[in-house]
Amino acid sequence: MNTVPVNHPPIHVLNEVESRKILKEYAVPHNKSAFAKTKEETIQEADKMEFPVVLKVVSPLIVHKSDFGGVQINLQNIQEVEEAFDLIYENAKKRGVVSNGIEGVIVQEMIEGKEEILVGIKRDPIFGPVLVVGLGGVFVELLKDVSLGIAPLEENEILNMLKKLKAYPLLNGYRGKEKLDIDALVQLCKKVVDMAIREDGILEMDLNPVILREEGKGAIAVDARIVLQEK
Ligand code: ADP
Ligand code: MG
Repeated sequence: MNTVPVNHPPIHVLNEVESRKILKEYAVPHNKSAFAKTKEETIQEADKMEFPVVLKVVSPLIVHKSDFGGVQINLQNIQEVEEAFDLIYENAKKRGVVSNGIEGVIVQEMIEGKEEILVGIKRDPIFGPVLVVGLGGVFVELLKDVSLGIAPLEENEILNMLKKLKAYPLLNGYRGKEKLDIDALVQLCKKVVDMAIREDGILEMDLNPVILREEGKGAIAVDARIVLQEK
């Protein structure tokens, strides 16, 4: 049986909407989004965005949103948004989350890109904030191809972390593929590290994924989860 130390300070998991507020404060690039409580609000917010859009469930009971059918991407018009809204609620219900367990949805612009990157922070009790980067999906989950670096980190050190990844050639024009915006990814990581140094309440943070586009076109976080430790 797991035991929790009695004087362990409480932790607080921020949902995507709350996590994005912190990203905004530190100018970490992320896509346009809005929180909506009802279908009507969802339609209004989607109307203000560029299509295609994405809809995601917001619920304290759901951490991995796509495992619940809680992420609907590539929605081309309002009708598809309405259908996706219903589907998200149905999917959650099938998994035993009733509608009062759902706070609403996040509507956001869809970002097209070439690779999905994981950018994370883990605060180590001795070393402090540690930056974790790797390519999303199988590279991180199956091959454990990640690079770690202890804060503070300068741009050149972050670039070296990326170069240590086995999958690095995929970012840098492997076999005639286009080069991706490595510089933008380094800048994004730098902001994340500086944020973790300033905000010592951040215990963990995951930007998963950051969508990386071709050279000159940027790196943009489309999902965020921050865990705060209360003192
Ligand atoms: P979770 O990690 O909680 O399952 P995400 O928000 O990461 O949910 O969404 C799951 C996947 O959907 C992402 O890995 C990405 O492939 C895709 N996705 C999510 N949001 C967007 C977006 N705004 N633009 C493009 N793809 C997205
Ligand atoms: Mg994610």
